[in-house]
Amino acid sequence: MIYTKEEFTTRFSLLCEKADLSELGLPAKDKLYTICEQLDLRSKQFNLTAITEPEEVLKKHIMDCLFTAQCIDGIATDGMRLLDVGSGAGFPSLPIAAALPNINVSAMDSTAKKTVYMNETAALAKIENFKAHPARAEEAARGEMRGAFDICTARAVARLNVLMELCAPFLKIGGHFVSMKGAAAEEEMKEAESAAKKLGLTFVEKCRYFIPEMDDARFLLIYRKDSKTPESYPRNFSQISKKPL
Ligand code: SAM
Repeated sequence: MIYTKEEFTTRFSLLCEKADLSELGLPAKDKLYTICEQLDLRSKQFNLTAITEPEEVLKKHIMDCLFTAQCIDGIATDGMRLLDVGSGAGFPSLPIAAALPNINVSAMDSTAKKTVYMNETAALAKIENFKAHPARAEEAARGEMRGAFDICTARAVARLNVLMELCAPFLKIGGHFVSMKGAAAEEEMKEAESAAKKLGLTFVEKCRYFIPEMDDARFLLIYRKDSKTPESYPRNFSQISKKPL
């Protein structure tokens, strides 16, 4: 069962305080509560996320994504365009849009019913700077969204070398790719060195953070697009996954 709004506010405020995220998180708390409420309600109707227990939703979805929003806040300027690839039930895209109303957030997922869910949730939460698009990244990256974004994010979609080929084409030159990773971050970075080079990405920073009351470290891997991604990328998905760059 989901937290009541009062329970949510109490727990959320405490976690924000422990994580030093109060300034970013608290103004968005009503929107974030609606995201949790909708996730609970709609997960009973179709398979949206493996995480449904309220304390886990709060920590592993909301708090985790707020750390990403904080990092993006450091590189974003008003009106910037962000794309979240493989957004699923809206993570990290919905919490980022709730916490950073000054940027435009697009979310993409290959499952159309997830994008319908995200758009309905954004409307109910009054998150106006958000739009979800049903598409496969490797197909959309060949259309008008190519080279159109300042920031591209992704969590739990694919290994880094595969993800880079899906995300880099969407970025403008000078734009940033922000990948949310767990314990395998270092290993995936090494594995993705050649992909980064071929796609025009330069490593900028690895940020380590801890969700309060949880032991495992999480990482934000940040790359900047310094040169144009060759037109031959992205390839079709079977080539990308069978023969990562
Ligand atoms: N990012 C969300 C999260 O962290 O909760 C969802 C993660 S879920 C494990 C992976 C999502 O990526 C799924 O919703 C799937 O439909 C989507 N996906 C996988 N490959 C994709 C592709 N090539 N283009 C767009 N979406 C994709």
